[in-house]
Amino acid sequence: MKDVIIIGSGPAGALCAIYLKRYGLDIELIEKSFVGGQAAVTSEIENYLGFPVIDGAEFSFNISKQLKKMETKPIKDDIVSVELLGDVKKIIGKKNEYFSKAVVIATGARRRKLGVKGEEEFFGRGVSYCATCDGNFYRNKVVAVAGGGNTALEEALFLSGICQKVYLIHRREDFRGYLWLSEKVREKENIELLLSSEITEIKGDDRVSKIVVSGKGEIDVSAVFVAIGTIPNSEIFDLEKTSNGEIITDNKMSCSEKGVFACGDVRNTVMKQIITAAADGAIAAESAMKYLMEK
Ligand SMILES: Cc1cc2nc3c(=O)[nH]c(=O)nc-3n(C[C@H](O)[C@H](O)[C@H](O)COP(=O)(O)OP(=O)(O)OC[C@H]3O[C@@H](n4cnc5c(N)ncnc54)[C@H](O)[C@@H]3O)c2cc1C
Repeated sequence: MKDVIIIGSGPAGALCAIYLKRYGLDIELIEKSFVGGQAAVTSEIENYLGFPVIDGAEFSFNISKQLKKMETKPIKDDIVSVELLGDVKKIIGKKNEYFSKAVVIATGARRRKLGVKGEEEFFGRGVSYCATCDGNFYRNKVVAVAGGGNTALEEALFLSGICQKVYLIHRREDFRGYLWLSEKVREKENIELLLSSEITEIKGDDRVSKIVVSGKGEIDVSAVFVAIGTIPNSEIFDLEKTSNGEIITDNKMSCSEKGVFACGDVRNTVMKQIITAAADGAIAAESAMKYLMEK
């Protein structure tokens, strides 16, 4: 029986773990893939205080080092269900079952899918949801990015530095991202904007070779990077949620069930960024500690 189990080791979960260790609590940090979460696959982070610029891989490496210094080694397991009612929380993973007095949910978010023909079929063979992870496979090739928010703009910029040409396809005329970012994109000679357009089909034989774009017809590309928003990883938690599936918390990160806290991109936060996720993690740790003290 642990004091607190934290599910997810992105910025929110990792910082929560560090705070809880500093409070001297007995914790378990459970992660299904890698430390750093979405931040690990970010090309460049230039809005985290104290780091003028740092790439995502180095940022996550630093988080791992900091966890190690706090004698916290994340357990690798994929949590598939939870029993959160009552004083003992049961966390069920693919490998093991875990028990604790309190739980912090820091499972973050994942990319939304386009939902077009060919997307599932060519996933991993030209369809990607992470330019920083897979962009290098398409060096000097022609690729497409779908989306119009900050992530799509960032990915188009990153790809323009390594690919021959990037089509940025967005269903509206205006981008939803920061003005300075969209201006940077518009200045790039090898980014062609296809606005008020949508990808309607992804085609190929063994790998992606074409996309069909509304009003433009077929375009030859070697890869499609989908960046049309995120979905909170909250399905397994039977808690109060927004219509988008974000777990609802108060400003202390408390959820609708006692002893359960949520932090970062998985909750109804107004801003989904590293700094806000980390701040949420610190608050969740404080609240979990106080919950245990009052019991
Ligand atoms: C391409 C890209 C660029 C970005 N650039 C920036 C930027 O420059 N600046 C900035 O501030 N923000 C940026 N962001 C946003 C930022 O990365 C996120 O807001 C932040 O990582 C959220 O942290 P989190 O800990 O809440 O969730 P996540 O980072 O999503 O971490 C959640 C973790 O939980 C794990 N997990 C999920 N489900 C389970 C489960 N069932 N069992 C076990 N583990 C699980 C995941 O594997 C993951 O490691 C970017 C995001 C992307 C995708």
